[in-house]
Amino acid sequence: MAAGSTEEKLRQLREGKLTAAENIRQFLKTIKGKNSSINAILHTNEDAVAEAEAVDRKIKSGNAGRLAGLAITVKAAISVKGLTVCCASKTLEDYHGTFDADAIAKIKAEDGIIIGMANMDEFGCGSSGENSAFGATGNPSAPGLIPGGSSSGPAAAIAAGMCDLALGEDTGGSIRNPASHCGVVGVKPSYGRVSRYGIVDLAMSLDQVGPMGPDVYGTALLMETIAGKSENDATTVNKDVPKYTQLLKKNTKGLRIGMSTEFEEMCSDRRIYGVVSAAAGKMAAATKSMIKQVRLSHVDLAIQTYYPLVYVEFFSGTRKFDGRKYGRKIEDVCGEEALRRILGGKEISKAEYHGLYYRKALKARRLIAEGFEKAFKDVDIIISPTTPMLPHKLGTKITDPKAMYAYDAFTIPANLAGICAGVVPAGKIDGVPVGLQIMAPAFKEELLLQAMAAVEKAGQ
Ligand code: GLN
Repeated sequence: MAAGSTEEKLRQLREGKLTAAENIRQFLKTIKGKNSSINAILHTNEDAVAEAEAVDRKIKSGNAGRLAGLAITVKAAISVKGLTVCCASKTLEDYHGTFDADAIAKIKAEDGIIIGMANMDEFGCGSSGENSAFGATGNPSAPGLIPGGSSSGPAAAIAAGMCDLALGEDTGGSIRNPASHCGVVGVKPSYGRVSRYGIVDLAMSLDQVGPMGPDVYGTALLMETIAGKSENDATTVNKDVPKYTQLLKKNTKGLRIGMSTEFEEMCSDRRIYGVVSAAAGKMAAATKSMIKQVRLSHVDLAIQTYYPLVYVEFFSGTRKFDGRKYGRKIEDVCGEEALRRILGGKEISKAEYHGLYYRKALKARRLIAEGFEKAFKDVDIIISPTTPMLPHKLGTKITDPKAMYAYDAFTIPANLAGICAGVVPAGKIDGVPVGLQIMAPAFKEELLLQAMAAVEKAGQ
């Protein structure tokens, strides 16, 4: 058990060496000290210390849950009763959750403590953390650079030591890209593995709630807590949830690891490919695994396929923000990127009568998913970089949407295919963290997490 690890923290809490209240107070102090510069937290939970004291009583009486005493921050698009669910948008500036999302209810049932709501790109529209109506988030691991997005706040909060774990949401890379840039761990679960009940959609056919943490163990623990069938979300699948944390203890051996030729060609920064290949090589040697090239057909079309789907689904999902119930009309107050998607989505929806874009995108999506199915006949997992470029300087915002969209070329395919994918730190380039992405077949999160743990271990 490494010092400072989530597992070690849990042991201290369980054995009374650290109380839940002390844990929360320490994080609140860090938030107070650092948040004015990092801007990761939009709203802290005023009841967190009292909630922690109640958890301490449960720990003492020996009936506390699996997350007892851990502090969790939540992307501000996931409903927590009484806390802001503003999606970093002026539209929902004064909106507070009236109920707990399924994932939140499960965290609370295991005695995790929601310490605050985290910053993000408005409604999840972005990859840099710069599109928040409440100011950009900083990157604690690479000061002066963007933290990645759209789950910028959750990743930055972990990296800055403001919480133990965090809950993010990933439609096209929003958990993985900030995990990579901030040097933390994150998982986008398979579509249908985690209930989406209580999240504000970016694009409902792609969104997944997922765990983030400083290490694979903590991430697996949160994954184990939030996964599973829910009566509230018909897209969730009725499959048992394995005990991911226990399975991590098994030593992974003899994996067939795929590296995609297509991703290699699309990686504009060769240094990133170098760091990721080296980490993959180390892990393969440590686990007696073999690396082979795989072809992922049509993966180069992922961005063109993703955006028409997102534009249309976002347009449709935001029609309820018309100013009558939740706050100001979205089009009147939202930022440029959200507006671009609403207007674009409206046009595409009109053209849909002729099946011009959305239905074509659905066909391309199917082809991309089939490409993965084929590749997974030859390999168990696929390793790739997370982003094709390093984070840019905060304040030098990329204004060309196409250039910004290119950021997610490696992460979007997993969302389109509905498979699971995770990111784990692989190394650094000039001090800037680089995360390695692993993709695994749908509902094989245990394999994904085991492989991620093997990378983490090989890197130490
Ligand atoms: N950057 C992508 C987008 O802007 C992904 C967003 C996300 O995963 N929420 O759509």
